Amino acid sequence: MLDINKIREDFPILKRKVNDRPLVYLDNAATSQTPKQVIEAIVDYYENYNANIHRGVHTLSQEATDKYEQARIKIQKHFNAAKPYEIIFTSGTTHSINLVANGFAALLEDGDEIIVSAMEHHSNIVPWQMLCERTGTILKVIPMNMEGDLMMEEYEKMLSNKTKVVFCNHVSNALGTINPIDEIIKKAHGVGAAVLIDGAQAASHIVADMQALDVDFYTCSAHKICGPTGVGMLYGKEEWLNKLPPYQGGGEMIAEVTFEKTSYADLPHKFEAGTPNICGSIAFGAALDYMHQIGFKNIAEYEADLLAYATSELLKIEGLKIYGTAQRKTSVISFNIEGVHPYDIGTILDKLGIAVRTGHHCAQPIMDFYKIPGTVRASFSFYNTMAEVDTLVEGVQRARNMLL
Ligand code: PLP
Repeated sequence: MLDINKIREDFPILKRKVNDRPLVYLDNAATSQTPKQVIEAIVDYYENYNANIHRGVHTLSQEATDKYEQARIKIQKHFNAAKPYEIIFTSGTTHSINLVANGFAALLEDGDEIIVSAMEHHSNIVPWQMLCERTGTILKVIPMNMEGDLMMEEYEKMLSNKTKVVFCNHVSNALGTINPIDEIIKKAHGVGAAVLIDGAQAASHIVADMQALDVDFYTCSAHKICGPTGVGMLYGKEEWLNKLPPYQGGGEMIAEVTFEKTSYADLPHKFEAGTPNICGSIAFGAALDYMHQIGFKNIAEYEADLLAYATSELLKIEGLKIYGTAQRKTSVISFNIEGVHPYDIGTILDKLGIAVRTGHHCAQPIMDFYKIPGTVRASFSFYNTMAEVDTLVEGVQRARNMLL
């Protein structure tokens, strides 16, 4: 059992008021809040050992390098990657996916095929479309059904020896669906294709085991798991990271530079050009420490309770429809009220101190599929309370009464 009141003490922002009301923060799928343990790690870095890494012989540089590399090992252990250098620090999921898609542009040819799911964030669509424009590769889409599940039999039909890469999110940010990534990976490997799983939305709810999944690439962003913005990671199997060319050139990523030819550094440095987000990477490690101290199993159980309660209470509101009713989903509820624009509901909720997200959630194809302009999305984290669910439900009911 989690002591939610005690946990909430760790999050200074949860004490603030918005429009004279206590903040009810239900936009966790966009960005989670930051506990003081992570804020302290950031302050500690800038107060005590702010320096550039890897290059310096001086004490501060060595301390910063040690902490940065320790953070990499924390992330390696968390995701059970075989080697620390299979973890590449990036600015987040978007950067990680662009890095991989750009690398594949050098490996794919006209007529090769790549497969995406119908429920991706734009971050896992657009970089691959850019790749297709450069290479003549063909993009195929695994369709979804009205419940928000992928149609796996259609996926199987699409696979062939032309398939080179399959990319799919672990959890949909717009619907909360947990996708059957084990099966997706196994089937893709059956035809020799590589698989990238976008773990941005899964990372705060599920611990993904890289070796057990046998996934080729996995991504996440620290700001969705209690860490800071602007930092994330790419996991890549060593053999794949060695095959891909570097994404950016610059300092740190080289072995030797002459005007005739440059050779690249070993992993992970080959993919970490320039001064990285040193403080952010260290704070990312601190965020994982914090999440482990709460316990991912405890988090999942509690969030399942929040989801079940919020779903049943919201469905009592007349005309409210939830999009994404998959059996396996995380604590995300995307909904609309018949005859009301989601933006108007979001605006009224904000006046009541309730933060939700409205719009297409960077997943426009999903909105097109349901033929709607967008949804209201409430996403719950382990620091939310059942009382906050009640406040949301009252707020939505009030918005409905005002708008209809
Ligand atoms: N993929 C998914 C499923 C997401 O939910 C998000 C962010 O909402 C992203 C990718 C992009 O993450 P970032 O903006 O941190 O790069």
